[in-house]
Parts: sequence; C-alpha cells; structure tokens
Amino acid sequence: MKDNNLFIYNSLARVKQPFKPIHDGHVGMYVCGPTVYGDAHLGHARPAITFDTLFRYLKHLGYKVRYVRNITDVGHLEHDADSGEDKIAKKARLEQLEPMEVVQFYLNRYHKDMEALNVLPPSIEPHASGHIIEQIEYIKKILDEGYAYESCGSVYFDVEKYNRDHNYGKLSGRNIEEMQNNTRTLDGQEEKRNPLDFALWKKAAPEHIMHWPSPWSEGFPGWHLECSTMGEKYLGEKFDIHGGGLDLMFPHHECEIAQSVAAQGHEAVNYWMHNNMITIAGKKMGKSYNNFITLEQFFNGSHPLLTQPYSPMVIRFFILMAQYRSTVDFSNEALQAAEKALQKMSDIYRRLQNLKPAEKSSVELPDFMAQCYEAMDDDLNTPMVIAVLFEAGKIINSATDGNVTLSAEDIDKLKKLFDIMLVELLGIRVGSEEGTADLKPYEGAVDLLMDIRKNAKEAKDWTTSDLIRNKLSELGFNVKDTKNGVEWSLK
Ligand code: ZN
Repeated sequence: MKDNNLFIYNSLARVKQPFKPIHDGHVGMYVCGPTVYGDAHLGHARPAITFDTLFRYLKHLGYKVRYVRNITDVGHLEHDADSGEDKIAKKARLEQLEPMEVVQFYLNRYHKDMEALNVLPPSIEPHASGHIIEQIEYIKKILDEGYAYESCGSVYFDVEKYNRDHNYGKLSGRNIEEMQNNTRTLDGQEEKRNPLDFALWKKAAPEHIMHWPSPWSEGFPGWHLECSTMGEKYLGEKFDIHGGGLDLMFPHHECEIAQSVAAQGHEAVNYWMHNNMITIAGKKMGKSYNNFITLEQFFNGSHPLLTQPYSPMVIRFFILMAQYRSTVDFSNEALQAAEKALQKMSDIYRRLQNLKPAEKSSVELPDFMAQCYEAMDDDLNTPMVIAVLFEAGKIINSATDGNVTLSAEDIDKLKKLFDIMLVELLGIRVGSEEGTADLKPYEGAVDLLMDIRKNAKEAKDWTTSDLIRNKLSELGFNVKDTKNGVEWSLK
C-alpha cells in the first residue's frame, strides 16, 4: 500500500475530505451507469472517464477496489420516473424487437465506446432487470418501516412523512416547501398523497411490455430503487463512494438516500461524488437543441456540428484537461486544442523513450512525481497533472535538442513519471492518436531502418540514406535528424 493522502470533495458535506475507507485496504464504489436505449454521447463519456480515473488511482494506491456500475434497463423515463412509457419498451414496440434485444444492442455499443476511450470495465455490471426480486424485497422493508404506501397497485415513497423524521433534500440542499410549490401536476399523480412522492413500484399499463409479478401488481420498479438495491447488495449496507453526474443529484441520489434511511435506518454512502456537466457551445445537451453528438459521431466526424473526426484519446484528454467538478464547454476549437496538446504529449513521450543517457545530468530535476501525486490527491486535479507533465516535457525536449544532458537515473525517473501518470492513471494510450493504430509492432522495424540509414550515412552512401528517409516519409513517418541522433514519429 502507498500512503493515502487523497482528499475528495464530498457533495453531501460540501467540502473536500480526506478519503478513509470503511474497511482497511478495500474500497467499495458505485457509479450510476448508462440507460441503454440509445447510443452513448459526450455526456456519458465524462462520468465514465472521471470515475475510471478514480478507480485507476485507488488501485494504484494499493486498494482492492470493487467497482459496481449498473445498467439501467427498466423503468427509467426522461422527464418523470413515475408515468408514461418505458423508453426501452417503446423502442422495442416501434422496432418489433424483444426489449432485451434493444438492451443488448446498445450495451454492446456502449462497451465498444468505453473500450475505445480506454475506460476499464467495472468489477460488477449488474442489470436492473436482473434484480427485480431484490427490489421487491427492498420495497417491503420500506413499507414495513412505514415510509411507503400502496395505491391502485403501485407503491409510493411517502416523502412528507420521511421529511418529518429525517431530512429530505440534504444532498441537493433543497427544501420540501419550495419543491412542493414548484411541482407540476403530472398524469398518475392523483394516486399519490403528495406530488413529491416517488414510485417504488409502478403498476404496468396494459400496453407496457416490460413487467414482472409482485405482491401489489404486474408492474415494474421505480428507477431510483435499482441503485439502492444493487449498491447495497454488492457493496454492503454501508459503502465508501457513490458517484454519478451532477444531473443525477436530484431527484435520483436524493431518493436513494431516503430509501436507504427508510429501509435500514441509516445512510448507505460515505462519500457522494458528482462530475459536472458538458455543454455544447454554451448550451445544455438536449433534443430541443439538436446537439446530442454520439461518441461514434465524434470518432467518425459525421455530426453536422463537427468540423472533423476526433479520436477517442483526444476526447479522453479533452475531458481530463478540466477538473471533474468544473463545467466543460465543447467546441471544435476546444477539441482541436486538446488534439494538439495530446500530439505534443505523445511527442514528448516518444522522445523520452529515445533519449541517450549522459554520464551526468546538467540540470536538476524537480520532484515531478511528488507534484503529480499532490495534484491527484487534491480531488483528482488532472489538469494540474497534465501541466506538470508538460513541465517535465520541456526538459525532455531540450535534452533531445542537445541543450541539456540527463543521466540514466534521471531518464528512468522521467520514464516512470510518464508511465504512471500519463499511461496508468490518466489512461492515455500513447502513440495511438488515431484510436486504433498501435505502433509497437512497427517500432523495431523502423528503428532497424534508422540503423541502416545511419550506417549508410557514415559510409557516405547518400543514395541509400535518402531513399530510406523519403520512402518512410511517403509511408507517413516523420524523420528528423537531431544532435542526439535520429528521431521519428508518425505524421
Ligand atoms: Zn443510479
């Protein structure tokens, strides 16, 4: 185990706190996963990459991490979890598919996108539809405790009663009177005692094709329930971290807290973490703006708002260039800047691999590694880590140009710095800016050609030397002669 000096911002306490896990050496972490009725878009990439970075860092510190990221495949509706038709069911009905075909189709595509973004798979990826029995049991507990009531075959959480005994709104900082004044009356609300009450179980309308038997009706569980149920099933009644996008804080996570307290008398989560949102040209992503750009469209450049394709690593780097709690505005200019920065970073990494050690270093290296750990410990300050790596890059570049020398020991230190911070923790696949190109198999071959060219030059065989250089250039390689020898990269 490494020393743990990690501070994370706890949305519930509204302050950065030292991270202390419940069980020594182990971390339980739950993150709200995707709803699988459509392709993943930029809004999905940010929580996935944010919590992937946290997952990587906790593992790096030596923790055994159980990371649960759920799949929402029942009962989640865009505007209101309590009424209307389930989106998966609707898609299945319109396209004449079995609902599970819709789920599997989009889940496969989601996994493909995540792999392209170098997001590690979670430890457990439970489906809401696979935990109906557990959710029914959870509802029974809340009913037994008196915080829910049955009405016309549905079961609702009694928010007013809960708020008398506990505090509904503590996570989002809302108060119940204000919420009541702002609540619109929606279909199905006459079944509820109070418009703020949310469904734990919903009786299915006859046209609803995804439904399960329960003591109350043929129906389906409310959306908020799946995360309480599956989080506690796989991580225990009390666990360390619950993450998700800021848009889930209310009502989703607020309702999760209420459910846990109602069912078991205490909260389940120690640290609530929320990543901020991505806007597109200053606007929220939304159907009405027609600015939902899917990840696939980013990768192939096919959306009309895009002036070019962007590789998955550019998207990842772009997201990590901002701290996860700040807002990020997407624009072509911002992504092009990220692309340039990533190219610069990859060049630095490649030069570092080719540096020839000198007897002694002519410069004293600052403790870049300590600076990076300090940044990671400060609530995952990834933009600071990137800034430190660019600082280190300045020294690497001047060593390449022959202006300073570096000892073998210092070169090893720098290699370790980049391998841990850039590759392992930020999860950047270096040398694969195009997303799929892996340079490894070529490296030996190109280095061999470089050696042949060097021998040719020494023998003043300019024809061979130029032939190799020109041929490689045609094939898309840059060959540059520097004081320290030859350097090459992909154009
Ligand atoms: Zn959730």
